Amino acid sequence: MSTIYHFTGAWDDKNLLGNKGANLVAMTKLRLTVPPGFAVSVETYKEYKRTGKLPEEEIKQALEALEKQTRKKLGKGLSVSVRSSAAASMPGMMDTVLDVRDREAMLSAIKKVFDSWDNPRAVEYRRLNNIPADMGTAAIIQAMVFGDLDGNSGTGVMFTRNPSTGEKVLFGEYITEAKGEDLVSGRKTPQTMDALKSQMPDMYAQLEEVASILENHFRDMQDVEFTIESGKLYILQTRSGKRGGRASVKIAVEMAKEGFISRQEALLRVSAEDVRSFLHRRIEHVEKYQAIASGLGAAPGATSGKVVFNTLDAVAAMKRNERVILVRPETSPDDILGVSAAMGVLTSRGGLTSHAAIVTRAMGKPCICGAEEMKIDLHAEKFEVNSHTVNKGDIITIDGSAGKVYLGDLPLTEAEGSPELAELLTWADSFRRLRVKANADTVETVALARKFGAEGIGLCRTERQFTGEERLSAIRAFILAETPEQRAEALVLLHKLQKKDFMAIFRELEGMPIIIRLLDLPLHEFLPSEAETTDPELKRRIRELRETNPMLGHRGVRVAVTYPEIYQMQIDAIADACAEVNCDVSIMVPQVVTSQELLWVKRMVKDRGVKFGVMMETVRACMRAGRLAQVADFFSFGTNDLTQAVYSFSREDVEKKFLSIYLDAGILQDNPFLILDVKGVGRLMETAITWARREKKELDIGVCGEHGGEPRSIMFFHTAGVDSVSCSPFRIPIAKLAAAQGAILDSQIAAARSKLRPLG
Ligand code: PEP
Ligand code: MG
Repeated sequence: MSTIYHFTGAWDDKNLLGNKGANLVAMTKLRLTVPPGFAVSVETYKEYKRTGKLPEEEIKQALEALEKQTRKKLGKGLSVSVRSSAAASMPGMMDTVLDVRDREAMLSAIKKVFDSWDNPRAVEYRRLNNIPADMGTAAIIQAMVFGDLDGNSGTGVMFTRNPSTGEKVLFGEYITEAKGEDLVSGRKTPQTMDALKSQMPDMYAQLEEVASILENHFRDMQDVEFTIESGKLYILQTRSGKRGGRASVKIAVEMAKEGFISRQEALLRVSAEDVRSFLHRRIEHVEKYQAIASGLGAAPGATSGKVVFNTLDAVAAMKRNERVILVRPETSPDDILGVSAAMGVLTSRGGLTSHAAIVTRAMGKPCICGAEEMKIDLHAEKFEVNSHTVNKGDIITIDGSAGKVYLGDLPLTEAEGSPELAELLTWADSFRRLRVKANADTVETVALARKFGAEGIGLCRTERQFTGEERLSAIRAFILAETPEQRAEALVLLHKLQKKDFMAIFRELEGMPIIIRLLDLPLHEFLPSEAETTDPELKRRIRELRETNPMLGHRGVRVAVTYPEIYQMQIDAIADACAEVNCDVSIMVPQVVTSQELLWVKRMVKDRGVKFGVMMETVRACMRAGRLAQVADFFSFGTNDLTQAVYSFSREDVEKKFLSIYLDAGILQDNPFLILDVKGVGRLMETAITWARREKKELDIGVCGEHGGEPRSIMFFHTAGVDSVSCSPFRIPIAKLAAAQGAILDSQIAAARSKLRPLG
């Protein structure tokens, strides 16, 4: 294996020459004016690391070849730069040695560059960007050109398209009579590319041509370093340019239209993060501000408002048209009006699947959960954090994407779609197999779901409808009833309210399908806490309903077995609403562990013409998937509870107790409540899907847990044979993109496999 690769050679393998080296070879082949030079390979670096020695003789010969090529001797008209070149981009992390004029200095410079692979900054950068430590770097030795030679000289960096907007114009900076370091260090104030255009129109035209040649070759937007030496243009380096989310979408779509890349490739080039930047407001120049607290980024977007500590104040403020942030230790269904009146929510407890997180995500409001350093004093109406005291009425800004809290009313950038994003999403529709639905339980969120292009509602959580004074007191009357008569009376009112709610939702849906989940919450969650009431009767009932493990307790279908009338009321309300408004309804039963429970509820549905399904969120349900498939028309995996069950991790507590330590110590790679655990939960799902489809080939299978809107998990669902995912309305564009990416990658893998011929 050779240790030296000249730019004029045939090799442009980035694993041997690093990115910079490979691109210099490619540019030399493209006949661009690249200062000549050579790469000392990554293999050589690895050998140096083992032995501490460089191949002196080969390097000497390479230098002699360079001297011959430039017709100059090192130190006598020729000086070189020595730079690093790794296969993964590590901008500015390793050392560069410029203007090397003798052989001794050049060898020590190569060592310096190689040694800088292990400097603390590079090590940290690799850790943050998951770059393997053993990848190694090449060293690039290149003849220097001088941008500070005379008035006709200069140096610059240009992007072939605008990296913020994606617009197809040269964008960058240029300094007359200056070296590259002057640009990097900020010692001299650069001019824009427009200034270069008016001062040196001919150079600008050449750069436009270079941009076009490079984009043609690399099929991507490039970030190019150039130097003009006495009126002659040299290209020193090119690489794919880093870009913002909006630019990424525009560039991918336009490059596909210009014929550089296919639509599939355009879809693969855009990340969920890129799409997210269209959907939520952000803090402008966030780097300028110091956060006072941080927690889990539970629902994305930024917002600001006056701090309030309870629902009453939030609602009162809304009536006065004031913007508020609801700050609570955690939220419960009782707080729903406060959440809906507030601009955003900040809690000191709770994880990514806590009540506050799920509700705000569905409403598209920013939320930070589990900001544990905050000490909230509800009575004094203040919180303290890191030596700051924030009182009721003080203004804060929260960034629910990054999980950061700031003092004051920070300037925000508005969310706004773009024609290119709309077009990209129609391309995604043509490739994806997974249907994308929304989790929505009110007319408002159903309207949002439609706005974001949902193909139905995959999960309507009915307990969300028991909020607000009238509804809450109606369900409380049912829970507190002492006699069957009192219970029946309470149910009449609940039926009326539920029917009204369903009719309003069906009207909004205009015939789109909806899966309504029957009541799931434990009953005690509808009651106030014992401390909040003085009524001895209510206190007694609260104590009676209290459970040690409510998450594993009397909830879901178990409530229907003990109090069948509550599910019967819901089923009747759905059927009665259906009789009055055209709709496509499915009913789903939560927390099922056995087909007997399912049959118990199925008897209540009778032959009402609605589809009947099971929420797959217990381990036993997955183990009995074949049998359940015989009874159900469809499955929907509730991956929040299923993850809780598979891990035996409480979804309410782990994030604040020990999960971050597990993640920091590398015991877990990802938060399983955020990114589906393919090896555990995923495998269980695959088993269940296989057994279920063996029973019923056409069984419709969805996912409605929070993972239904998470890109990596969605790719897995595609491969596992799931038919649809359901997520909060705001995550629909991201889900559609991920579903398309999953389908495209799958077909690329299948095509590659079909080309492999069996050995022998
Ligand atoms: C689930 O468990 O994944 C689910 C969607 O239901 P919930 O979050 O309401 O328990
Ligand atoms: Mg659940």
